[in-house]
Parts: sequence; C-alpha cells; structure tokens
Amino acid sequence: MGLVVQKYGGSSVADAEGIKRVAKRIVDAKKSGHQVVVVVSAMGDTTDELIDLAEQVSPIPAGREFDMLLTAGERISMALLAMAIKNLGHEAQSFTGSQAGVITDSVHNKARIIDVTPGRIRTALDEGNIAIVAGFQGVSQDKKDITTLGRGGSDTTAVALAAALDAEVCEIYTDVDGVFTADPRVVKKARKIDWISFEDMLELASSGSKVLLHRCVEYARRYNIPIHVRSSFSGLQGTWVSNEPRGDRKVEQAIISGVAHDTSEAKITVVGVPDKPGEAAAIFRAIADNEINIDMVVQNVSAASTGLTDISFTLPKAEGRKAIDALEKQKAGVGFESLRYDDQIAKISLVGAGMKTNPGVTAGFFEALSDAGVNIELISTSEIRISVVTRAEDVTEAVRAVHTAFGLDSDSDEAVVYGGTGR
Ligand code: ASP
Ligand code: MG
Repeated sequence: MGLVVQKYGGSSVADAEGIKRVAKRIVDAKKSGHQVVVVVSAMGDTTDELIDLAEQVSPIPAGREFDMLLTAGERISMALLAMAIKNLGHEAQSFTGSQAGVITDSVHNKARIIDVTPGRIRTALDEGNIAIVAGFQGVSQDKKDITTLGRGGSDTTAVALAAALDAEVCEIYTDVDGVFTADPRVVKKARKIDWISFEDMLELASSGSKVLLHRCVEYARRYNIPIHVRSSFSGLQGTWVSNEPRGDRKVEQAIISGVAHDTSEAKITVVGVPDKPGEAAAIFRAIADNEINIDMVVQNVSAASTGLTDISFTLPKAEGRKAIDALEKQKAGVGFESLRYDDQIAKISLVGAGMKTNPGVTAGFFEALSDAGVNIELISTSEIRISVVTRAEDVTEAVRAVHTAFGLDSDSDEAVVYGGTGR
C-alpha cells in the first residue's frame, strides 16, 4: 500500500459535521494501510466572505495583505480537521503551505508553484501521522512572503504534493460524483465520465468546466499523476483522469467527452479599424502590456467601400474595465472609430479528441443550436474543441440542446449535487 493524497473542497468541510464526516473517511484510508496526506480548502464560502470583508475595508485589496488574509481560511479547516482525526484516536498534524514546503514565485493572488520540498510532511508520515496541509497557499522563494495560488488553487496544491511525494493517486473529493458530460447543476441528465484523458480534461477546464482547474490538470499531466475525482458524500467510484485508462477498466475513449459553458467572459468589439498591417498588433499589444489574457479573437472581412473592419475578442469580465481603458488610450494612434463592450455573453464548447477523426461534429453542433433557436455570435475551434459565443440568456437551453444532440444524456438517474452553494 502506497501513499495517497486526498483533497477535500470547501463544500465537503462546510461545517463541524462535514469535518467529522471527512475525518472518518481519512481514517478509513489510513486503516486500509495507506500513508495519507490530506489537502484541505477553506470551510464553505469562507474565502468569499473574507474577500467581501477586504473589499469593505479597501476597494483594491490586492497583494501581500490580501494573501495573508485569505490563507487564514485554510488554517481554520486544517486545524479543525487534525483535531477531528485525533478525536477518532489517530495521530494527525496540520501544516501551512509554507511548512509543507510549497515554494512559489512572488506574484500575489495568483502565484505559481516552482518547487515543493515536503521534508516535514515525510517526517510526519514516517512517524505514523496523517499529514493535513492547507491548500491554495505557499511561500515566495525570494521574499519569503505568504502567497496564494488563485481561486480554487487547493487542487493544484494536492497534485503538486502528490508529485513531490510520488503518490499512487491524487484523490480530489468534491460535492458531485466526478466529472460529468456537462455541469450537473445545469443538465440534470448529465452523465458521469468513468475515465477521461488529460488532454480532454484540460480542454474542458479551459472552456469553463469548474470541477478541476486547468493549472491542476496541467501539473498532473506534466508529472503523470492520475487524478481520481469523486464525492466525499458518497462511496461511489468517481472519474479517473490520466494518460491511459487504468488496466482494470477497459474504457474506450468517447468521441465527445462533454459540453462546457462559461459565463465569466465579456466581449469587446473594436469598431472601424483601418484594414492595414500593424493594426491588430497595436490593439493586442496594448491589451498584453496590461497583463490581460484574451480568449477568442475574430476579425471581420472589411467592407471594400470603407476599408474598415471590426475586431472582436473575449476576455474575463473582471478585466473588462482595464482593457477598455487601455484601448481608449490607443484610439488616436490605432485610428479605430469606437469600442463596444458586452458582458451578457456565454461561451459554449463541445470537447472530445474523437472529433479529429469524425466528420460532421461541427455541423451537428450548429444544427443543435439552430434547432434550439440560439444565435451564434463568434466561433473558434481547436483540434479537439468547438466553441461558440451566444447571448448569456440562452446558455442553459444551448447546453442542454447540444448535450442531447450528441447522445450524452444519461438514461438512468439524475446527477446528484450533494452540497455547495455554487457561489
Ligand atoms: N479556498 C480557496 C478558494 O475558494 C481555494 C480552494 O478552494 O481551492 O478559492
Ligand atoms: Mg473553495
């Protein structure tokens, strides 16, 4: 029996009862002979509450103090969990990210892990303890300041520790039974996926699926750490995310893995851009210099009569203001006419490696949307994904229509959502 890393999300440890329930699961894993390292998130909506509080005190609470504040959430849950485990008669020790050896760069609020030196965790395990580690946090290599990894970063902590400790598996416990063919909060007939490749999972994550973060899957792929996503509320097998299906489960790669949606983006249209070399470069240089990540980009054919074209792109809503300000400053230089900002959009994506070799997927996707009366505003594709932008108000209907059209609806029970406010 080897070492397992288990990660419990905020909804699994939302209250004292939840903490006690999780403690029992952890003790069971230990009793079955494993060495157990647990990564835990802040209880329930604690992180959101701390952010609300910070915003009341200061409108732009970024940086060092913000990280210092947010990491308090995970400290609470790690200590309580260790106490609950001791109460069941087993030894446990809790560690902050810094104590666990999670070393990051010094970009506050979205630091990247650059090294993991889990010496203290090893020692704790060798002495027979269960090690509990606060997720989503580390310490910066140069300044020795406390950092956070960005929202949902506990998954990345778990995978990084699993890699550093050479764990058999990284189990991610959440409030649904695994990765589904669509968000089960939106599509009741969503089906649980038994196995999905890192490749498809990465594409789902970057298309808005929230069950696993992109960075976490990327890390797992780089170090080839199999992830098992499952519910802490049921005893069911969840979804395995790995390079290859595991030996004992002969699962075929599905043509389509799932439908993801994302309502966190906005669309900016730069209207009346002169159709000559260098214009798009100037626009996107201004965006990049402000550290804004963009997603889809579309340029229209220019009207011959005017020699002007429109360029649209999508970006996180949270960056909208900054992008508009940056572009306004370039207006005279670039010579465009105006800017249009639209945050009432949704992105819907169909993902699956099988679409490379199966003609008709794109046509079927557009037909499903058209049958549902959904208008398409932008389109972008990769080898294994097709995405469209639609009105935000159409998102539920569009996702359900596409899910049904590709035969993804489950014919058994409805998907269960055990907890979480989805906040
Ligand atoms: N508590 C942090 C958050 O809500 C980290 C996590 O849950 O993974 O973003
Ligand atoms: Mg959380």
